[in-house]
Amino acid sequence: MSKSKDIAELFEQYVMKTYAPSATLTSGSGCKVRDPDGMTYLDFTAGIAVQNVGHCHPKVVEAIQTQAATLMHCSNLFYNANQALLAQRLSKLSLNGKCFFANSGAEANEAMIKLARLWGKDAGKFEVVTMQNSFHGRTLATCAATGQSKIQDGYDPLPIGFSYAEFNNLDSVKAAINDRTVAVMVEAVQGEGGIIPAEESFMVGIRKLCDEKGLLMLCDEIQCGMGRTGKWFGWQNFPIKPDAFTLAKALGGGFPVGALVATSELAANFTPGKHASTFGGNPLACAAALAVIEAIEEEAMVKSAEENGKLLMAGLNCYVDQYEQVQAVRGLGLMVGLVVEGQAKEVVDTCRDMGLLLCCAGEHVVRFVPPLNVKEGDLEEAMEMVSDALEQLFGSEEEE
Ligand SMILES: *Cc1c(COP(=O)(O)O)cnc(C)c1O
Repeated sequence: MSKSKDIAELFEQYVMKTYAPSATLTSGSGCKVRDPDGMTYLDFTAGIAVQNVGHCHPKVVEAIQTQAATLMHCSNLFYNANQALLAQRLSKLSLNGKCFFANSGAEANEAMIKLARLWGKDAGKFEVVTMQNSFHGRTLATCAATGQSKIQDGYDPLPIGFSYAEFNNLDSVKAAINDRTVAVMVEAVQGEGGIIPAEESFMVGIRKLCDEKGLLMLCDEIQCGMGRTGKWFGWQNFPIKPDAFTLAKALGGGFPVGALVATSELAANFTPGKHASTFGGNPLACAAALAVIEAIEEEAMVKSAEENGKLLMAGLNCYVDQYEQVQAVRGLGLMVGLVVEGQAKEVVDTCRDMGLLLCCAGEHVVRFVPPLNVKEGDLEEAMEMVSDALEQLFGSEEEE
């Protein structure tokens, strides 16, 4: 059982069809992944913004191997050093506050929503304003938080306590706030919504509005965090601080781990028994995350993200002039979207067949989220494949 075809057949038979996978991957290193039939791909999905330090970064591999042989798990009934050290690193990089650890993004967001509700309880406040086209996860509460009907359809009744505003429209946020509102929750760059960066006036406006009305500002950094935007966290691109934010995806370098980071004042609302997770913050997950942070720091990958993002955007921008069907390039740091008129999936499929893995962010946006330290040569090779794919899909007949 080694060839793609056999694996795909077994998958179809026994795995629930929540996804429609398109290639089989068996190993990876840095920006490259291989399939069982001998094909090598450049991976510009990076596990959907998970492999920010690349596949199988030696430091992360070593940390996991060592910790796995030492103490894989211990209950949160007991202290573990890695959890404390990771909380310290994340706090010092951001709010100087405290962390709660979970196993995924959705769970981290659940924790953030629960913390906001505890904070607002005595004032009778519980409603969270989120944005249209946001994405916050697939649990019932985070589905409800996600401002996309395609994510919510079929799951009624969804938990109440959410209202929706238009992204990058401060008046719309104002209009969504009422006496029950406890918080405004926003992504610094909408990921699933189509790689749309927040405007500075919007983020600053939300912060001001929250201060004036006594609300919490919450950021979902699950996709745009961990160096992706050229700052450690997406909100650091703006002159603001949220009251809390969440991380997952890239935090563990591929090992599942999520985190809620909050100011000490807000964090104090969680007391023993109020929230919990069996696996959250276990020594193995935290060892992986600590190694990811060290790798990003030692190899100056936050800076790489900014520089590679500029190169990538400049390269892609050429196609906006060249093809009518390529409408725009947008993003922040190394979180980049190519907006096309037709189906983004056609570009993704064509590039895959050439050896470049990309994914969509909505119907019309091709998402580029390679490892932060992608080598210039790999970036150039990827650009050549994109160029060939666009020529094949959009090139005019005469030019041939
Ligand atoms: C991926 C993602 C989530 C959900 O994370 P899971 O680990 O899949 O639960 C939440 N918010 C954003 C912004 C994401 O990109």
